[in-house]
Amino acid sequence: MNIDFTLVNKFLNDHRFGEIENHWLFNNIENGEHLFELPNVSQRKEVKIILELIQKNLSDFKPLNENIFTAIYPEWPQIIGDMNVLLVVGCPEPYDAMVKEYGGTQYVIFDLIRLNNYVKLGYNIDSMINQLLTHEISHLCLHQKYPVPTSSDYFANLKYIVFDEAFAHILSFNENIAKYDFTKIIEKHYSKSLVKLRSALKESDNEKQNELLIKANSGLYWDKFGSISGKLFLARNKENIVNIYSKGVDNLIQLMGLTP
Ligand SMILES: [Zn+2]
Repeated sequence: MNIDFTLVNKFLNDHRFGEIENHWLFNNIENGEHLFELPNVSQRKEVKIILELIQKNLSDFKPLNENIFTAIYPEWPQIIGDMNVLLVVGCPEPYDAMVKEYGGTQYVIFDLIRLNNYVKLGYNIDSMINQLLTHEISHLCLHQKYPVPTSSDYFANLKYIVFDEAFAHILSFNENIAKYDFTKIIEKHYSKSLVKLRSALKESDNEKQNELLIKANSGLYWDKFGSISGKLFLARNKENIVNIYSKGVDNLIQLMGLTP
């Protein structure tokens, strides 16, 4: 595992924040946008604590729902061995954790100031870090078998988001998804998110398509219609999750009753 501390070290040890802002990351969070928020030095102490916690969690990482995770991604220990992690500050909300490709390499990225905001909100940081790691490492493993689309084709990208986020969200949802009763959540959120996805898959206006690609996986948790529809479809079909993974993107969309 290769952990890059450059940005967080600059934040902790000197004041040349301009150098932080020049990092490739801030031009690659969203296509064609420069997204950066000046980190606040008053958070140095907290960032140090989170840095230690995240290092500890990375060094003895075990995914949540380890049995299912391993059945889907049997090669995860090797993938983690080769993983590139970027620990940063400077990402604006809501970019707390993500996987981005740059120069042909995939990076798992955590913004420590964003994570510190969860601590302020009272979340248990240890279990939250484990959830975030499970989520992002699910993306990393999935991208090995199903590479991120390189074309700008809207439909291919939207369908890929649904597939990719479905597995990352369900596996990191809690400690034991096999035992968890999803009935109420499914009743409340599944068809709503599916309706939005169905209409998004019919959108032909270019500008609206760009907006929908972002909304499919950002904003308020239950409003992320791409992620939530995929996640809750998997929650309804927990016993087939490995099989659904092995059959890929178009098959999932078809199983959800949508036209691939
Ligand atoms: Zn994700």
